[in-house]
Amino acid sequence: MSVTPVSLHLHDHFARELGEMAVPWQAERTPDPRLLAVNDRLADDLGLDPAWLRTPEGIGLLTGTRLPDGAAPVAQAYSGHQFGGFSPRLGDGRALLVGELVDRDGALRDLHLKGSGRTPFARGGDGLAAVGPMLREYVVSEAMHALGVPTTRALGVVATGRSVRREEILPGAVLARVASSHLRVGSFQYAAATGDVALLRRLADHVIVRHHPAAAGSERPYLALYDAVVAAQASLVARWMLVGFVHGVMNTDNMTVSGETIDYGPCAFLDAFDPATVYSSIDHEGRYSYGNQPVAAEWNLARLAEALLPLLDDDQERAVALATDSLGAFRSRYSAAWAAGMRSKLGLPDGLDGAVATTLVDELLVLAERSHVDHTVLYRALASAARGDADAARGLFLDLPDFDDWCARWRATGPDPDAMDRTNPLRIPRNHLVEEALHAAVAGDLDPFERLVDAVTSPFDDRPGLERYAAPPPDDFGAYRTFCGT
Ligand code: AMP
Ligand code: MG
Repeated sequence: MSVTPVSLHLHDHFARELGEMAVPWQAERTPDPRLLAVNDRLADDLGLDPAWLRTPEGIGLLTGTRLPDGAAPVAQAYSGHQFGGFSPRLGDGRALLVGELVDRDGALRDLHLKGSGRTPFARGGDGLAAVGPMLREYVVSEAMHALGVPTTRALGVVATGRSVRREEILPGAVLARVASSHLRVGSFQYAAATGDVALLRRLADHVIVRHHPAAAGSERPYLALYDAVVAAQASLVARWMLVGFVHGVMNTDNMTVSGETIDYGPCAFLDAFDPATVYSSIDHEGRYSYGNQPVAAEWNLARLAEALLPLLDDDQERAVALATDSLGAFRSRYSAAWAAGMRSKLGLPDGLDGAVATTLVDELLVLAERSHVDHTVLYRALASAARGDADAARGLFLDLPDFDDWCARWRATGPDPDAMDRTNPLRIPRNHLVEEALHAAVAGDLDPFERLVDAVTSPFDDRPGLERYAAPPPDDFGAYRTFCGT
């Protein structure tokens, strides 16, 4: 008997069109599955009945253990530069692409699992994931979506009933996530490394159709594809910088060609503004520090260009010249996106001279860094200052004469406090709150997790009772460290 809704049809475009990069594979069985989180609104967007997702059949979909007829799950192959060193064969070591769904807007979306067991790409890994990190990806990715940052989404987390051995024994889980695709810079590196230019071309054609259809009409479609990825990543990384997000592991296998944020491993949000901030325990040199993210993105895009060279021009030198020229646009695109975003954070009027705006932004960030000002609290406090009450903002700075001088010049531009409240979140998934919620969840109490998800998925609304979700960490929280591959 099949209780799967008849309307549920999983497509296999990727597996069929790019079979050389897809290994048919099945999810491992789950001894005692228990639903921990399900995203009703996203389910609805996908045309999935949220009530059905809570049934054993629905949980079977979320764990890959009970799939509709015709489903063809695969592990995807990709390469990647990890902290600068190239690994030709990474791929989904503990993940599966279950298939593609057509959402209510008619767009194709990947349904993908993380923690679903070892695949041929697992190398030494156990193929598993623990409850804490999967719930972490759930809450952080949903917060990012609510903040307006392009991202993979979390559909659900199911505890498997299996133990996972890390430094200690932890409960295992599978995350079901949804993305416009899981194709990465590393996917192109993999195709290029095979030496099969026809495969590389098929991958590029697939990505053009899925993500950057305007490139198809261009005189040089593959160069236009590259330009589109450069533009999407410049915009994405600017958004990260504006909200204070630190990805933590910007390897080329963790950078999409769609421009969505992917792979929430050692990520975290800034509390005090400091460009040198690093959370990842293994990023000793600050390669992926907050302030270095635009540089890291540009470096990854250079690797994408190398992979695409055979498609850009038959003449290698000409291909390099074209790619170099396109990559050159990254900096100006990034700077424009950052500047526009900061103008909006500061509520600056449209007509304000660009040089004046840049000076105000640069000066504020110097003051904020010097006084260790909380990157989220600051901009809502400034909105109050724009309304005439500067007490909260003044309370953040050690260097009052300099702040007062800056504030007077900024207020003279006529900043719009309502626009600032619409742009600047009150609540982000703060590290101390995430830790608290995950700790409780692993011990069996999901209430703090659910309250946190609720608080950070309406980040802009001033809701009474949620004050503790807007506050910076307590002084005794200390330096925060995050971990990869958890
Ligand atoms: P990540 O750091 O999550 O981006 O993972 C980098 C690579 O390691 C990818 O190929 C993953 O599939 C693989 N990987 C990470 N953790 C595991 C695990 N526990 N078992 C198997 N493969 C893993
Ligand atoms: Mg990854």
